[in-house]
This record gives sequence, C-alpha cells and structure tokens, in this order.
Amino acid sequence: MVSPQSDFTAWLIDLDGTLYRQLPVKLAMAAELCFAGTSVWRVISTFRREHEQIREAARNGTARSGNPFHDQLKATARKLDLPITTVEHTVTQWMFDRPSRWLKHFRRKSLIREIREFRRAGGRTALVSDYPARTKIMALGIADLFDEVVASGDAEDLRLKPAPDGFLLAASRLGVSPGECLVIGDRSDADGLAARQAGMAFRKVPGSVITDSSTQPAHAAVAAS
Ligand SMILES: [Mg+2]
Repeated sequence: MVSPQSDFTAWLIDLDGTLYRQLPVKLAMAAELCFAGTSVWRVISTFRREHEQIREAARNGTARSGNPFHDQLKATARKLDLPITTVEHTVTQWMFDRPSRWLKHFRRKSLIREIREFRRAGGRTALVSDYPARTKIMALGIADLFDEVVASGDAEDLRLKPAPDGFLLAASRLGVSPGECLVIGDRSDADGLAARQAGMAFRKVPGSVITDSSTQPAHAAVAAS
C-alpha cells in the first residue's frame, strides 16, 4: 500500500510539463519560430535533439561527467559550426526568455495550490529540473514555493534524468532520506524512472496516483536494467 502524499516529508518537483502545461507553450513558440528564420530553428531543433541524446546516455549508463547543459551547447555549436556564444544566446532567448511570457497563462493551478498547502503543513519542497530553472520559476510566480532548486546548467554537474542525481542531491540538501520523498513529474520515462532509481515514490501529473519504487510501470523497470 502506497502512503498518501501527505505522509511524505518532502516533495521533489519537476518543472517543464509539470508546473505548467507544455503543449500550448510549445505551440505558441512554434508559431513565433515560424517568423524567426531557419537559422534560429536549426539551433533550437539541434539543441533539443542533443538533449534527448544526452538523456539517452543517462538512461543506458554511458553519460559522461560534466554539465549536460554546457555539453548540449558545445555539441550544438560543433554540429552547426557556430560560435558557442551564438548558440547560447539563441537558446537563452528562445528556450527561456521568450517562453517565459507564456508560462503564467498555462500554470497547473491545482498542483501549485497543493504545493502551497503542503508547505503550510510543514512539508519541504525542491524543484529538480534538467534545464536552468530560475527564469521560468520567476515567470511562473512560484519562486517562493521551493526550499531548494536543483537545475542542470545552474552550476550543477548532474546527469540528466532518468539518472537519479538531481533527486538525490535535492534530498540531501533538504536533509531527508529517499524514502521520505515523493517525486512529482510529467514523464514516467524520465522523472518516474529517476525516482525509482533513487528509491523514491512517484506521482505522475496530471493525475494523483502514486507509485512507490517497487510498483513502477514495467517499461521503467526494463529501461533501468
Ligand atoms: Mg517535465
């Protein structure tokens, strides 16, 4: 029997797709990208592909040490034969600054309300993201919602999810054990699998069903092996 979520000491929460609905933001950005020209589109699409490749390396245990966000920038610059500063400027503008204008419109209000209530009742919280997070949490108006922020690119050398690094670091900073943590995220193959590997319970959003580390979906167990 899995404990109700109020029984956990800490909630470790993913950002993209979890605290806001990602599809409408992606559609809005796709519309803006149509007018941006092919050079911007090439940088963003290559950068996203690199992200999934680095995530795949984390999944199959071949991830290199170092900062994955900076590795993504470097690999994108190399593939497109561009200065890394150009790639970084384009990524910052199109993946963080511009989307920020849309985020507040698509917040998951009920989840944010739940987090506030959990904190009011004494719960600890951390944000765990595979991308730099501060611009987005400011845009969402939820910077006060977390005791800790663990984000790739924010000076963290962490493997991407489904490696458990981010969640384990968050638990350690909060001073709690993995068994006291509930991971809340939108991807079973990233957040869910990382939670399993960290020995933490997982709740997939949207929804409220919680699975503990021994009852994750079968595909997660296969991917973890
Ligand atoms: Mg997500």
